[in-house]
Amino acid sequence: MAAQNDILSLEPISLVEKYGAPLYVYDAKKIKAQFDLMINAFDVSDIKINYACKALTNINILRFLKQLGSGLDTVSIQEVNLGLHAGFAPEDIMYTPNCVSMEEISEAVALGVRINIDNIAILEEFGHKHPEVPVCIRINPHIMAGGSSKISVGHIDSKFGISIHQVPHVVRVVETTGIKVEGLHMHTGSDILDSEVFLRGAEILFSAAVHFKELSFIDFGSGFKVPYKESDYSTDVVDLGKQLSSRFNDFCKNYGKDLSLVFEPGKFLVSEAGYFLVKTNVVKQTTSNVFVGVDSGLNHLIRPMFYNSYHEITNVSNPDGKPRIYSVVGYICETDTFGINRKLAEVKAGDILAFANAGAYCFSMASNYNSRFRPAEVLILDGKDYLIRERENFDDLLHHQVEIPDLITAKKATSII
Ligand SMILES: *Cc1c(COP(=O)(O)O)cnc(C)c1O
Repeated sequence: MAAQNDILSLEPISLVEKYGAPLYVYDAKKIKAQFDLMINAFDVSDIKINYACKALTNINILRFLKQLGSGLDTVSIQEVNLGLHAGFAPEDIMYTPNCVSMEEISEAVALGVRINIDNIAILEEFGHKHPEVPVCIRINPHIMAGGSSKISVGHIDSKFGISIHQVPHVVRVVETTGIKVEGLHMHTGSDILDSEVFLRGAEILFSAAVHFKELSFIDFGSGFKVPYKESDYSTDVVDLGKQLSSRFNDFCKNYGKDLSLVFEPGKFLVSEAGYFLVKTNVVKQTTSNVFVGVDSGLNHLIRPMFYNSYHEITNVSNPDGKPRIYSVVGYICETDTFGINRKLAEVKAGDILAFANAGAYCFSMASNYNSRFRPAEVLILDGKDYLIRERENFDDLLHHQVEIPDLITAKKATSII
């Protein structure tokens, strides 16, 4: 159990004693290992990784990735501003929005970041409004990535990207408006099963790329799969690196210019670096089940309920205890099941459980549902723990609520009439 040993080495019990539960913990060492693995897998003249920051937006995580040499992939103007605040240069930030207003795109232009456009109508409007600003174009190659339709974004019914079949139209828009196309992009989904899908997408992108003479990069998006269970497969980055590098280098030779190869992984960089530590409130035996009820729920970690995702659970208070079968559930007034029929070392009230793969799309999807506070976040760097986000408190729940003193009396008066 790799995840179990990794979390135990971070001393989860003393972290909870120091910072309380529930608690998100991120291991910088693992983020760096994943970053290095990806960079070293490719043998091309220039590779660039833009961390897809929607996975985990804590400013310290952004700065750590910047220090590793990463750029940023952003999907909202707010993420752009977070990136700039974290110290990224505008040219190292890619803005890849979907269905946002032209006003928001113009805001991003004013901030000087790279613009990725995924709609022909917007491309036309952009060409008239900002003819001097180079753009990247998001192509939908219509290949089906693995996994559920919630995380497949390259298929024909998807709202993302400009269809590969519309490239002739894109070329006409580019020629008439004089837009400079500096990059082509695809992002097909979040769970790619093998290198084959990537390579098929790459071929489609190459076939489109020959129509644009001023490219400086091709962005292959993400879709890198990470393991959630012992038996899970993950994207073989080294194999992909070998195959894609060779094909990419051939393409550049034919194109007549060395282009940058860009990826924008989120999950791959941060998923396995994160653990979510919760405290057991109750162990509840019913007629058919034994429930472990913890001090968290879908308000803090919604992926199991939203995507049916699997997060390995370890009882870090009693790692050598006798294994028993449990269903681990949250305290929210909804069905918020983290895992059914899980074999855990015997659990008693007060035990700390650790959820693995809690670095990506966990804290960033957390909410205040049931008026609970969002958890604190801790980063482990060079053997030291740093509090990188305070636990929320009651003031946070009231923050931005407008309390109108006379409202209730006013309402009472009208209801009497
Ligand atoms: C979400 C997203 C990513 C990152 O996806 P992961 O599966 O987390 O690697 C990359 N690019 C774009 C455009 C995205 O929207």
